[in-house]
Amino acid sequence: MTSPVMPTYARADVAFERGEGPYLFTSAGERYLDFGSGIAVTSLGHAHPHLVEALKAQAEKLWHTSNLYRIEGQERLAERLVENSFADTVFFGNSGAEALECCIKLARKYQYAIGAPERYRILTFEGAFHGRTLATLAAGGQEKHLEGFGPVVEGFDQVEWGDVAAAHDAIGKQTAAILVEPIEGESGVRMPVKNFLRDLRSLADEHGVLLMLDEVQTGIGRTGKFLAHEHWGVAPDVAAVAKALGGGFPIGACLATATAAQGMVAGTHGSTFGGNPLAVAAANAVLDIMLADGFFDQVEVMHKKLIDGVDSIARRYQGVIAEVRGLGMLIGMRCIGPNTDLVAALREREMLVIPAGDNVVRLLPPLIIDESHIDEALEKLADACAEIAAK
Ligand SMILES: *Cc1c(COP(=O)(O)O)cnc(C)c1O
Repeated sequence: MTSPVMPTYARADVAFERGEGPYLFTSAGERYLDFGSGIAVTSLGHAHPHLVEALKAQAEKLWHTSNLYRIEGQERLAERLVENSFADTVFFGNSGAEALECCIKLARKYQYAIGAPERYRILTFEGAFHGRTLATLAAGGQEKHLEGFGPVVEGFDQVEWGDVAAAHDAIGKQTAAILVEPIEGESGVRMPVKNFLRDLRSLADEHGVLLMLDEVQTGIGRTGKFLAHEHWGVAPDVAAVAKALGGGFPIGACLATATAAQGMVAGTHGSTFGGNPLAVAAANAVLDIMLADGFFDQVEVMHKKLIDGVDSIARRYQGVIAEVRGLGMLIGMRCIGPNTDLVAALREREMLVIPAGDNVVRLLPPLIIDESHIDEALEKLADACAEIAAK
């Protein structure tokens, strides 16, 4: 059957009717274990009672007023993001790409504001994914995403992932900022080399450029800390977050220090929907849960159990899984055969996972999983590996 939806996605032929915690149900009543969370979005699981309650309550009061007026929930959300991060100020949009667009514009405007308008270029890293708008595509620099969409937006330079010396050499008089993911998610949960972020921080300071982190996938709890860069004790000047922020409701944000954001005065940037009352109600509810005492301690306990289990399956099926890597609930399994075989074998076992670059399969379960969900996932994974190994 053909659908009038523009065919930009090669969709699996399955649809879900409702969700509950880490489970999704089809209309036929089949129950899938969701270890994809959308794509790293529904980090508190499906239909979390606190989120449902918050969104329902807001839906009955007010949906939209625009950013011409104060939005109390938005102010509260910004305060909480600032209190729990390096940032002093926050701009709200509706997606990851929009959060990154704000970062890119902010970097150019910062240099302009301090009297260096010739500094407009952004240094990025090979394998990066920053979104699908024209500027974020140029930032990501991936041939397969850019093909046919030229000319490529000007002003981005790219060096090898992890290569600090190359980054040093690539920074010139026109460089405004360094933009990097703490862990490259889409290209296969690629982990940073030792001291990578710390060295980039030094480089940025040395050259008077901003350090901007794309935490759209890693941020808001995914790696077991509120923001992933906390793992390395390095603070950026700017960070983009989105995926997990609304618990499934579309919202993204650009977080920045006051210094970095000094050019972003009234009239310089905007969004019709950004930070709308429904979106910020959902995001505030997400923070109620995630910022509660002990939440991330529990995530760490579950991370350990999950990764130990996956590691031992990888050792048992060395012809199937070559390597396991990741932090928190962002775990990548690099496959020997095509990663799509493992994704398909797991879907046959009613478990959802997400493929990524470098022939990786990502496990992105909601942060609220308990031991029983992990046992169930490991059983399905071992079973799928056994089937692939027997081929
Ligand atoms: C998903 C993602 C984006 C793009 O987010 P959208 O909401 O799809 O625009 C940008 N950067 C990273 C690291 C991502 O994982």
